Amino acid sequence: MKNIDMLWELQQLDNKIIEIEKDAGIIDLKNDVASYKETYNKLLISTKQIAEQYKEKDAQATQLKLEIIDITSKIADTEEKLYAGEITKPKALSQLQKEIDDGKALLEENNKSLELLRSENFTYIKQIKRYKAKLEHIKVKVNECNNMLDEKMRSTEEELAHIQMSIEALKESLLPDEVKFYYTKKANIYPVVVPYKEDSCEGCQMQFSMIFTQSIEKYNLKSCTCENCGRLIIVIKEQEQEQEQEQEQEAQV
Ligand SMILES: [Zn+2]
Repeated sequence: MKNIDMLWELQQLDNKIIEIEKDAGIIDLKNDVASYKETYNKLLISTKQIAEQYKEKDAQATQLKLEIIDITSKIADTEEKLYAGEITKPKALSQLQKEIDDGKALLEENNKSLELLRSENFTYIKQIKRYKAKLEHIKVKVNECNNMLDEKMRSTEEELAHIQMSIEALKESLLPDEVKFYYTKKANIYPVVVPYKEDSCEGCQMQFSMIFTQSIEKYNLKSCTCENCGRLIIVIKEQEQEQEQEQEQEAQV
């Protein structure tokens, strides 16, 4: 990386934004909103599933009701025939009686099934109502959080805009590839740039190999990439820092 110092600075600015948002409670509120939304979506899916089950049972109940009407009317017809007195043969009469008995047994069975479906659907309706109330409650909570967020964002707006301007200026000075690298990495791992500490990567804690460490020192590298996590490692030399500070102090005098 050519402009490792600038990338480091870019990250410091990002850190500042995180710090300000954290102090203002913005990060917490954002987390709350995200978690409410997750619960909301899960609940919504469950509600829809229950509604589907209700629809299915309701269709079954409608079908059963039609069958019950049909059986009832058939029983009535058969009873009419039985008591009309036109049929006298014992075999035919007992056949009619059997039809009536079978019909009544089926009717009883269907009525029981219908009762069961109705009670199941009653439970579904109660559950849907309960879930809908919960969903409404979450909506209210999210609104409250968003209002608080707006307020907090307004209070930090100026400060953040200032940092954002510095970030934009830095991005202008960096190569497009470097900017792309930083933000692509940042989406997955943060921090992207870590200071060099002799034995392991500050980001992923992976131990550096001997060759890796030796080559940094041998070639006096200013930056390198962690072989494990791909983070940029910036080599900040203490001596250099001290020298810079001394020069600055001298210049001031
Ligand atoms: Zn690493």
